[in-house]
Amino acid sequence: MKTAADVVVRSGHATHVGHRREANEDALLCADPVFVVADGMGGYAGGADASRIIIETFAASRLPGLSFPEVTVEEVSGLLQAASQRITEETLAAGSTATGAVLVTCDGVPNWLVFNVGDSRTYLIRDGEFGQLTTDHSLVQMWVDAGHITREEARIHPRRNAITRSLGRGQGDSADFTLIHALPGDRIMVCSDGLSGEVAEEYLSVIAATGSPQEAADALVEAALAEGGSDNISVIVADLDPSA
Ligand code: MG
Repeated sequence: MKTAADVVVRSGHATHVGHRREANEDALLCADPVFVVADGMGGYAGGADASRIIIETFAASRLPGLSFPEVTVEEVSGLLQAASQRITEETLAAGSTATGAVLVTCDGVPNWLVFNVGDSRTYLIRDGEFGQLTTDHSLVQMWVDAGHITREEARIHPRRNAITRSLGRGQGDSADFTLIHALPGDRIMVCSDGLSGEVAEEYLSVIAATGSPQEAADALVEAALAEGGSDNISVIVADLDPSA
């Protein structure tokens, strides 16, 4: 089994307001071992404040700069709940998604501790396979789960923006967690729906796997803009490379 000493993390990130929105209510934190994307909702009610509060909460935690720390689900859950409470207290009626991964040590080996609230997404590219690690908390995802519509139909559905969980809006704000072994060669991609909703998965998977993390992040934002850029776009790409 590989240990943390055998690998090195390389990452890139990009965010763009898009072509239609006046403000960028997305926010991200790309601070190894923490990778978080938050998509704020609420416009004048404070959507940008909501996503910023989530990023501030993770940035102010003990995690940034640590190398493969031992981190429990309870610790990350506590950060998300603290952010949710602050959003409720400090905004009018705003909310935010939050998803991402923390590169942790669990039982002596590196793991991705993946978390999600809402419809931003965390993906894993491993051995050429592109897969979504998170499950959206959204109306259309419930219809996909029930077999009523396909994933691609969900992506372009008129109700695609209706989410069923978020931080700070008084709806369910509990996060899902997944812990998976992190292997040399892994690439994760964390993004807002301004990317995953705009670019079909067959293209997303190819662009996300191409070039350095920063080149991939830039190309993904360009692809979302080329498809219309109807929403704010944010993406983090992080590689776990074998150390030379
Ligand atoms: Mg969005």
